Amino acid sequence: MDFQGKRALVTGAAGGIGAAIVNRLRAAGAQVAVADRMTDSVDADAHLPGDLLNESYADGLPAAAIEALGGLDIVINNAGVITRGPVTETSDADWQLSMGVNVEAPFRICRAAIPLMAESGGGAIVNTASCWGGKAPGPNHALYCMTKAAIASLTQCMGMDHAHQGIRINAVCPNEVNTPMLRSGFEKRGFDPDTAVAKLGQSVPLGRIAEPDDIADVVLFLASDAARYMCGALVEVNGGKPVS
Ligand code: NAD
Repeated sequence: MDFQGKRALVTGAAGGIGAAIVNRLRAAGAQVAVADRMTDSVDADAHLPGDLLNESYADGLPAAAIEALGGLDIVINNAGVITRGPVTETSDADWQLSMGVNVEAPFRICRAAIPLMAESGGGAIVNTASCWGGKAPGPNHALYCMTKAAIASLTQCMGMDHAHQGIRINAVCPNEVNTPMLRSGFEKRGFDPDTAVAKLGQSVPLGRIAEPDDIADVVLFLASDAARYMCGALVEVNGGKPVS
């Protein structure tokens, strides 16, 4: 895929999947502005560190990317947090964090980016949902699953509503991916991450859970002209693991 001349904003850029997306976009010729709480670890064309829970930061990211890169053709809303437990073990702080990062921030970024991208001829937005955000939520992750269902639904709605402006909005829905998000969960529960990842891989028909690049390649496809007729799609990337 050729991204020469394209300008992209990637959130969650210092995380497992985010860093893979940034590396692959840049290797394919794009200029990339990276957003995360700390972005020093990521090679990029522009660094826009900040906290997505800060409303004015999220609202201002698309304009900041345009200021830094001279335009904006691609937005990847990839940042996310996972809160574990059933509703009865969920605090107000869990609610605010999950809704704030997983739903409100991408809403704010899309709302700000869409008119700016439309003004300059359109572009592509890819949101990161989850296999757990659809028909088959996983157990004991009530808030996480609900927020991923919300971003999936928002993607479908925005995909319909903004296609006429030349903006394609789709989502990738990964199953388990070998990133700090998954590994830290194993650690917190007292499991060795390498052993747990290997064991989890046995439940996947392809024989392993996803690596970040497996997801990044699908994100790049959705952001590319090869996906030019796709709007509002929720693309599952699950190694054949049934989700329902
Ligand atoms: P990760 O924890 O490695 O990366 C997430 C990134 O988001 C981190 O760099 C973190 O700093 C950033 N972030 C979180 N809160 C933020 C905030 N308030 N402000 C700014 N940045 C913030 O996780 P990952 O696995 O790479 O996850 C990327 C996306 O993929 C997430 O949306 C996640 O829900 C989704 N996903 C992951 C899996 C998986 O198994 N790892 C499965 C399905 C979906």
